[in-house]
Amino acid sequence: MKTKVIFVKPPGDDRDLLEAGRALREGAVVAFPTETVYGLGASALLPEAVLDIFRLKGRPADNPLIVHLLSADDLEGVVSDIPPVFQALYQAFSPGPLTFVMPRHPGLSPLVTGGLETVAVRFPAQPAARALLLASGVPIVAPSANLSGRPSPTRARHVLDDFAGRIPYVIDGGPSEVGLESTVLDLLSDPPRILRPGRVTAADIEEKTGIRVIRWEEEPRGDEESRPASPGMKYRHYAPRAEVRIVLPQEDEEIAEAFLRVLEVMEGSPALFLSEESWDEIRARLSEGKKNVPLPPAYTYEGGRNLDRAGSHLFDGLRTLDEEGPSLILAEGFFGPESAAYMDRLTKASRMPALVRRVLFICEGNTCRSPMAEAIFNDRYRELGFWAESAGIGVIAGQTMAENALLALEEWGIDPGSRKSRQFRARMVREADLVVTMTGLQRDFLLQNVPGAKGKILSAADLTGQGDIRDPYGQPLHAYRRVRDQLGSLVHEIYDRLILTESK
Ligand code: AMP
Ligand code: MG
Repeated sequence: MKTKVIFVKPPGDDRDLLEAGRALREGAVVAFPTETVYGLGASALLPEAVLDIFRLKGRPADNPLIVHLLSADDLEGVVSDIPPVFQALYQAFSPGPLTFVMPRHPGLSPLVTGGLETVAVRFPAQPAARALLLASGVPIVAPSANLSGRPSPTRARHVLDDFAGRIPYVIDGGPSEVGLESTVLDLLSDPPRILRPGRVTAADIEEKTGIRVIRWEEEPRGDEESRPASPGMKYRHYAPRAEVRIVLPQEDEEIAEAFLRVLEVMEGSPALFLSEESWDEIRARLSEGKKNVPLPPAYTYEGGRNLDRAGSHLFDGLRTLDEEGPSLILAEGFFGPESAAYMDRLTKASRMPALVRRVLFICEGNTCRSPMAEAIFNDRYRELGFWAESAGIGVIAGQTMAENALLALEEWGIDPGSRKSRQFRARMVREADLVVTMTGLQRDFLLQNVPGAKGKILSAADLTGQGDIRDPYGQPLHAYRRVRDQLGSLVHEIYDRLILTESK
């Protein structure tokens, strides 16, 4: 089969897509651009065409497809019982990169929804996507147009890399603006719950509509789930051949310095994904005073460090760098809730996904146990892109670390530098991926005082099964040595059980 590539440049002419639209309506598969990523489209009304999508992608049959529509007028026959919250969300965010999960209409083939009684629908904004919907006159199912396990396509070329000769049409509308898949919002849970993070964040939704939604990570872990979470989230996605490591700056560190720090300890020759500005700085620093130093291959996006631009280039970056065959890609990371979608995709791309990146240790005064734990953790894992901090529940602010704590660490060759004790704040708990307290009482205190943090607060004993780590304050050096050794095992346990297990 020869694949026909149809170029549409905005504003575009709807007639360009009449032929492809008709073919799609009659059962053909057509790849098309959307603002999130390129989709592999077929008519939702033709079970054979829907099956073709699963076959072409090598997609598991229980991983449901998103149905793309022009407007809410087209929900008829796709969704039954539209939940009341839909209207306000639709007004605020559609067309755009927000997908709604609602009850499936009995007339819609369960092949589309992987057998679920719910269906995901989205109203894309990209002009070529809208022109194709108009030309075909049918609801279009469209997963990302990549082979399962490859990064999602954000350029027509990516689609051709995976499907040239296997599908009749690819519509080329230029690079996808958002570059990360849509936010998936479950309207059947109350409050609505984000099942997959995307450009539209919980904060955006609350700000524009006043509707409070919960983020997927607030989902009670380990508790019984009444309905299955987003099925696609369990599959490993977006995996380039190279291993991917996330580079995050430490406090007071510039991102370029963070890259240089990691490069210094990395074996082999990693490739880099970062902004043009950071790359210029790194290049200058690497070649300072030297001639012809070999530079690592780099994929850069325009300008300075910027979350949206990084997101829009991420998948192209991973695909492009991967072609050079490096064993490792170091990719720029971001902090904060607005970076959730980007970090989620990047984490999934790494063979060692680090869902736990930032650990907060908590003790009483933040002069002995928690700063020791912080120092030991950072000594071992900071270079790998993980990072610990510490604080205390009842702190006299500005105290330096206990002398014996410093001596015990020095015996291990660890120098925590000069640091001052600090009082824990709820914000610190919210920003950390994992919070580890020294005692069960401290854990319970945090659980009562920081709503929504359940599931990421554990005590040392929860992790090691060895009981609380007691305060050595005022005791002789040997007591501090014992605490240091306990903390050494605790830190090991955190890394082994919580960080590495994600990849097992
Ligand atoms: P993709 O088209 O590759 O972006 O994948 C679509 C994703 O949307 C799936 O993998 C699911 O995670 C999510 N999704 C689609 N339909 C449903 C549904 N009925 N319930 C929950 N999540 C869904
Ligand atoms: Mg996909």
